[in-house]
Amino acid sequence: MRSYDVIIIGSGIGGTGVGALLAYKGLKILLLEKHAFIGGRCSSYKKEGFTVSSYVHAFSSSDKGALGEILRKIEMPDEIDWVQQSIAPLNFKGTEINIPVTSDIKKFLEVVKQMPIPPEELDDLLKVNMSMVSLSLKKLRALDNIDIRSWLSQYTSNKFIHTMMAFLSGASFVIPYYEASTSEYIRIIRNMITAGHGGYPRGDCIAIPQAYCRGIEKYKGTIRLDSGVQRILVENNEIIGVELINGEVIKAKIIISNAGIKNTVLNLIGEKHFDKNYVDYVKQLKYSWSAIVLKIALDKKITDKNAFIYFPTDNPTEYFRQIEKEGQIPESLFLWVVIPSNLDPSLAPPGKQLICCGSPLPYSKQEDWKKWLDQCYETLVNLIPDIPKHQLWIDTVTPTDIERMVGEQGAVIGIAQTTDQVGEKRPPIKSPLKGLYFVGAEAGGWGIGTELAANSALECAKIVLNELKM
Ligand SMILES: Cc1cc2nc3c(=O)[nH]c(=O)nc-3n(C[C@H](O)[C@H](O)[C@H](O)COP(=O)(O)OP(=O)(O)OC[C@H]3O[C@@H](n4cnc5c(N)ncnc54)[C@H](O)[C@@H]3O)c2cc1C
Repeated sequence: MRSYDVIIIGSGIGGTGVGALLAYKGLKILLLEKHAFIGGRCSSYKKEGFTVSSYVHAFSSSDKGALGEILRKIEMPDEIDWVQQSIAPLNFKGTEINIPVTSDIKKFLEVVKQMPIPPEELDDLLKVNMSMVSLSLKKLRALDNIDIRSWLSQYTSNKFIHTMMAFLSGASFVIPYYEASTSEYIRIIRNMITAGHGGYPRGDCIAIPQAYCRGIEKYKGTIRLDSGVQRILVENNEIIGVELINGEVIKAKIIISNAGIKNTVLNLIGEKHFDKNYVDYVKQLKYSWSAIVLKIALDKKITDKNAFIYFPTDNPTEYFRQIEKEGQIPESLFLWVVIPSNLDPSLAPPGKQLICCGSPLPYSKQEDWKKWLDQCYETLVNLIPDIPKHQLWIDTVTPTDIERMVGEQGAVIGIAQTTDQVGEKRPPIKSPLKGLYFVGAEAGGWGIGTELAANSALECAKIVLNELKM
């Protein structure tokens, strides 16, 4: 029977990231992925000459943040070629505002003038900004439990400022801003400003887990696809290995699960191996919202934009509540739009274009998402009217599709960054069961989606290496 130092279940950003970090340190790693492809939510596929994201992604601090840090730590810093983006383009009900990703206050003030904020309320925005930039880490931690809307309301009631923060945090955490943690939001804004740019990986999203997998293999780790884990084996309250769906048993004293904390505890291991309080805690954890996604291939390039976020209303609370409580489809949807082929022309055949967009919505068991998809398409066409004339094909993704692929009620992020699930209240990476750890947008970490998972991988590697006294 084969045995390894560490078995990692799942090839998402968290799983591949921690795999590369531990393989680099000389541990004998086996990474098992149930699908025939790597990357989990951060994956891509080929279709008629286009390279298409499985979902739709933008990356905030790219090489300068946690995604790049993993590669720096394994001495492969240039393994991802990032296309840099130094502005965050917004579209507020038709008005375009390009926010520079910069700490240069002069540049920021230039842009503030374009915002629909009365001059007497501009000070409010500056106060919000100053507070975000200057808070000490201790004061920041105190904001873990405060939602963004409540925090912002201490400074301003200006509708545009609330709208901007609500939809920016909505795009980052995929939950309403009246539930999202302020500290988490401030950290990502600071991180972006420090980096000075966002980015997009050449070769599309899958280039990130591919780079980490090259790291695993370079440092003699093993990756197996089509190798779903059916059970994690426990003996005398200790992890001893895994059993695959095909019945194969593989031994390891350390298992790092990237397969979701609920799935791991409740399905792959089973409640009986844990204390009841821990099981209850895991059961009540909440996921982020899900999303619908459109990916539209065009026979020619019809827009020069790289990406933008569209705010359809200046009443974000009503927007999110309407969807959440009443299940209503708004007339115009909040969209995040990425044009991957403008960022990396190799993602579309010469002269053609790929436009992707997503809109968040809470998970529900319904299977018919046509009305949502139609509304999403209509909103996008209002913003880029030439789409229907030039479209070759459209691929769609619904919450049901995301759920089929990754489970977790089709969650975009993973475990949500609500006020009660961040900082010290984030699910811990180390489980109560000896030898079992979690990684990914599920436990530990901070940041937006992929960066949350990458930060979790960095923390997880540190914890495991500490335990092994390495
Ligand atoms: C529509 C959409 C838009 C998004 N937009 C962005 C964005 O713009 N920016 C951003 O940073 N993030 C974005 N994200 C979020 C981001 O992709 C995720 O938060 C992140 O990739 C999660 O990584 P993870 O490490 O938690 O692993 P996951 O992606 O959850 O991967 C887990 C892996 O484990 C595997 N697995 C599960 N069970 C088993 C088993 N039993 N055996 C073997 N393997 C198993 C799965 O197949 C999967 O490959 C988006 C996600 C979606 C869906």
